[in-house]
Amino acid sequence: MSEFFSNRTLGIVTKHQKEALIGPLFQEAFGWEYALLEVDTDQLGTFTGEIEREADPLTTARKKVALVSDDAHDMVIVSEGSFGPHPAVGFIAADDELLLLYDCKSKEEFIVRHITAETNFNGQEVSNAEELHNFLERAKFPEHAVIIRESRAGKVVEKGIHSLEKVKSLSNLFFEKKSSVYIETDMRAMHNPMRQKAIIETCKKLIEKLRSACPECHHPGYDVSEVISGLPCMNCFYPTRSTLSYLYHCKKCDYTEEKKYPHGKSHEDPMYCDHCNP
Ligand SMILES: [Zn+2]
Ligand SMILES: [Zn+2]
Repeated sequence: MSEFFSNRTLGIVTKHQKEALIGPLFQEAFGWEYALLEVDTDQLGTFTGEIEREADPLTTARKKVALVSDDAHDMVIVSEGSFGPHPAVGFIAADDELLLLYDCKSKEEFIVRHITAETNFNGQEVSNAEELHNFLERAKFPEHAVIIRESRAGKVVEKGIHSLEKVKSLSNLFFEKKSSVYIETDMRAMHNPMRQKAIIETCKKLIEKLRSACPECHHPGYDVSEVISGLPCMNCFYPTRSTLSYLYHCKKCDYTEEKKYPHGKSHEDPMYCDHCNP
């Protein structure tokens, strides 16, 4: 393994106990010692919306890195999750995880994204015990915590709730007072096993990326920098919108390489050809 990996320490920036998920994976992969970097990341936005996250996930991750002073650490890692409609399949919810590893020595960033539909992300206005029960079942409660709000955009009454008794008593107060209450899934890592699984998958992706070395200078993080479309149609040989090749690029030495037919096929089915099947 390259010199890059030896004798490194990893500082994990989190407020939600993510060091227990992230640290051991990198320790096992590269032998890195790790430590929790406790920073109040909530000042950059929270899931529960008390402070609205202003920037996009990558900008937010970079701001978190900037919160820890450069000279005190070696490697710094930040995990950032976003939840909403799936970017490819709009009608289902997705967990979009981003992991940013920053090398304080070389000032180099290693970034991976992992999008999964395996999430319980949800929120609903409920007005009776049955609706509440159905929501909790879908939310995979009580292993996954929930948040109760006065209304959809209203104040958080309580978050990180794992107790059925508590959900019931808080909801009943609202059913009596104003007929309904807003309940949503708590997406903070320590309250959400599905999210924990997604973070672990993202870490594995980053480890794989770091292990991928440039064929020219052996620097880690050699990865696809661009996807080129234009796979020719099997019938008319016109270029289709399907992937023809991946461009690989080394940020260190600028070595670039085009790898054709990444999906193992040299022609596309005419079914996906705008010319043959408009
Ligand atoms: Zn290189
Ligand atoms: Zn065609």
